[in-house]
Amino acid sequence: MTSTTPTDPPLDDWDGTGSPGFATRAIRVGHRRTEEGEHSEPIFATSSFVFASAAEAAARFGGEQAGNIYSRFTNPTVRAFEERLAALEGGECGVATASGMAAILAVCLGLLKSGDRILAARSLFGSTTMLFDKYLTRFGIQTDYVPLSDLSAWESALERDPERRTRLLFCETPSNPLTEMVDLRELAKIAHRHGALLVVDNCFCTPALQRPLALGADIVVHSATKYLDGQGRCVGGAVVGDRKQVGEEVYGVLRTAGPTLSPFNAWVFLKGLETLELRMLAQSRAAAGLAQWLLEQPAVARVHYPGLAEHPQHALVGHQQRTGGAILAFEVRGGREAAWRVIDATQLLSITANLGDVKTTITHPATTTHGRLTPEQRAESGIGEGLIRVAVGLEDPADLQADLARGLG
Ligand SMILES: *Cc1c(COP(=O)(O)O)cnc(C)c1O
Repeated sequence: MTSTTPTDPPLDDWDGTGSPGFATRAIRVGHRRTEEGEHSEPIFATSSFVFASAAEAAARFGGEQAGNIYSRFTNPTVRAFEERLAALEGGECGVATASGMAAILAVCLGLLKSGDRILAARSLFGSTTMLFDKYLTRFGIQTDYVPLSDLSAWESALERDPERRTRLLFCETPSNPLTEMVDLRELAKIAHRHGALLVVDNCFCTPALQRPLALGADIVVHSATKYLDGQGRCVGGAVVGDRKQVGEEVYGVLRTAGPTLSPFNAWVFLKGLETLELRMLAQSRAAAGLAQWLLEQPAVARVHYPGLAEHPQHALVGHQQRTGGAILAFEVRGGREAAWRVIDATQLLSITANLGDVKTTITHPATTTHGRLTPEQRAESGIGEGLIRVAVGLEDPADLQADLARGLG
């Protein structure tokens, strides 16, 4: 079914979309060859499209004839990326956006109205929390938060909403930076029992490792900036789901409000998808090895990685997500000073908050990505001063170990 080596776990064919296989879809879906006979997908660098006649223009604008009008509405390179990603996630429809945040905003604008409520996991990407708390509240949309992996907390928060104002459940799994997970099959059932939709930010796993729609989620959002690109070049995003919610409601927001993806960025992501599975499996393998090695270091108090048996939701690996993923976090003894010493001693790893790159990155969450939280909020979220996050890339694993060993010794 997949082109992986025998040591890689299979991609479960949860939704029966196994033929053609994942790797084939990642390389072949979405390209309609033009009469020039190009082999690689072309970049349609054009803002508008021309019509054969005034009557054809009228028919396109009137919606009687399908076809391109303007690249804020549709663009062939962008469409190829949308179709390919939707085929990988197993969704009916995909729409591309200017960034991951634009994808989340478009979902909210497309599906919510004043008076509605979002129920979200407490551990979310910082800008997502900011969007919900600072901006959506201005339009009468409230967000409440629950601990990601506590299914009974999600359920009871919904029971405390008898008027059923909660329209969306929103989560990332695994979470950043502690790699906590939630059982998506169960969370989808809870959402649907209460008349809400489950939206999953699938940034950390990508469809190569986890396909939330097949597990019952309604909508997947992506920051394509991360693993879909895979080499840290472009900012972009996407939403995948069904024809009505995503193809009409979310798409309607994008074509009107305008945070659409540029053809060049779409092309970079399109090419990124071709190597996605190989990268995700190789980077996961490297992360698993590094997690194991970190466990053995006396200076390391704790390692957070889904692939380790001691991870609280380890049982979900293999069922819900194919591997432990490529991101891990670890706590060093000695707090901030010790953590900064490890980070500053590296010569190879990139000190940056970005992730999803073939270049390994290292971050101190407490003073960067999670620096806006109060010390109490950080303590509650388990993000200590000694915590370090590593998003593992494709360098030689021995070199990554040697680089981290410098500051751990
Ligand atoms: C980076 C990121 C986003 C936002 O994506 P941008 O492309 O930076 O707008 C959203 N969710 C997660 C989990 C991310 O890592």
